[in-house]
Amino acid sequence: MTAAPTTVPDFAALTQNLMRRIDALCLLTEVPGTIQRTFLSGVAAELHRELSAWASDLGLRAWVDTAGNWHAELPATEPATADPQAPTFIIGSHLDTVPDGGKYDGLLGVVLGLVLAGELKKAGAALPYRLEVLGFTEEEGVRFGVPFIGSLSALGQAEELLELTDPQGVSVRRAMQDFGLEDSRLPEAVLAGPHLGFLEFHIEQGPVLEAAGQSVGVVEALVGHHRLKLTFTGRANHAGTTPMPLRQDALTAAAEWMLAAERLAQDTPGLVATVGRIQAFPGASNVIPGRAELTLDLRHADDALRAAKLAELEDALQRIGARRGVQVQAEVLTVIPAVPLSSDLRTALRAAARSGLSAPELVSGAGHDAMIMARAMPAAMLFLRTPGGLSHHPDEAVADSDVQAALQVAWTFLLQLGRPNPGGQA
Ligand SMILES: [Zn+2]
Repeated sequence: MTAAPTTVPDFAALTQNLMRRIDALCLLTEVPGTIQRTFLSGVAAELHRELSAWASDLGLRAWVDTAGNWHAELPATEPATADPQAPTFIIGSHLDTVPDGGKYDGLLGVVLGLVLAGELKKAGAALPYRLEVLGFTEEEGVRFGVPFIGSLSALGQAEELLELTDPQGVSVRRAMQDFGLEDSRLPEAVLAGPHLGFLEFHIEQGPVLEAAGQSVGVVEALVGHHRLKLTFTGRANHAGTTPMPLRQDALTAAAEWMLAAERLAQDTPGLVATVGRIQAFPGASNVIPGRAELTLDLRHADDALRAAKLAELEDALQRIGARRGVQVQAEVLTVIPAVPLSSDLRTALRAAARSGLSAPELVSGAGHDAMIMARAMPAAMLFLRTPGGLSHHPDEAVADSDVQAALQVAWTFLLQLGRPNPGGQA
């Protein structure tokens, strides 16, 4: 069966409608005057109802699953020739926010998916796959201190999180019951395959696309990280009576090493190193610090390179400690591997962008639902330029023209998906 040519939507009008809808949806908040939608709150339920009503107006079936994730679907319109069950392609992101958050982090990705599904339906586009729009109920980790509860539930990997408690002592299990969900039915939230893949639109939350003058970018990988605790132990002594050559100052040793870490990251493309917390002991203005403790957060999209650079930093640590008579200790707290995204989907997205736009590849320094979904299916992300790189903030913004660019790229991508076109999915 050959696909009839599909009418091209009015992307500018679609964008205006989408932006107005987001403005209206963001009035649903737990704290008036700010944007706050917490996992399993009453506001989350209101948002689900609003999205479902919108989906229904677009002629799409919508539902909330047993984990509290919101879904809408556009059935496949072309009968699959070989496989009786058409595969599913998912467009999704998260619906929760941080306290005093922005309008676009998460919600934009869900709303873009919904607008595209509605427009494909309206245009009568022939699709050899079922398109599902997914709004994950939890990603930010605000309420229970653990992120990705929505996407982990979709993969059947959230069972062990049910006993986590929020600061009020309410468990995830109890919060689900209060929301009207049966916790015993959580396994029913697992997505049934086969899956063609997962696509997440998300604001970049960083300055790379803005600096490059680009509307959208294709995410190559989500960076991995090492987190370490470093302890420098010297000798506390009187700040007035101890001459400089006779000191074993733990804090100045730490400072020298911090600058070495900064230099190494500046000299290594893609490497970022951050000392976000530092403490000096005993912490008095007239005492030479006898001990200093600090954290290191080291990120890069290449795990082997990151490990090699960490080894260089550990060598520097030993050298600085030995020269200054300060004992040094580095303890690795967490290692999160990088998540490369699907090269087939990346190629298809870049091909879809080729008509008039360029979509450079970039890495994501933050975690996203796509990295959880990548465990189970080919996953991709399209980033939208973020003015000032600002997010998790009320002034978080996105330009209409960049939303329009994302819609255009996605439209071409979705029409080619599942077909043996050059640049498309085989
Ligand atoms: Zn987000």
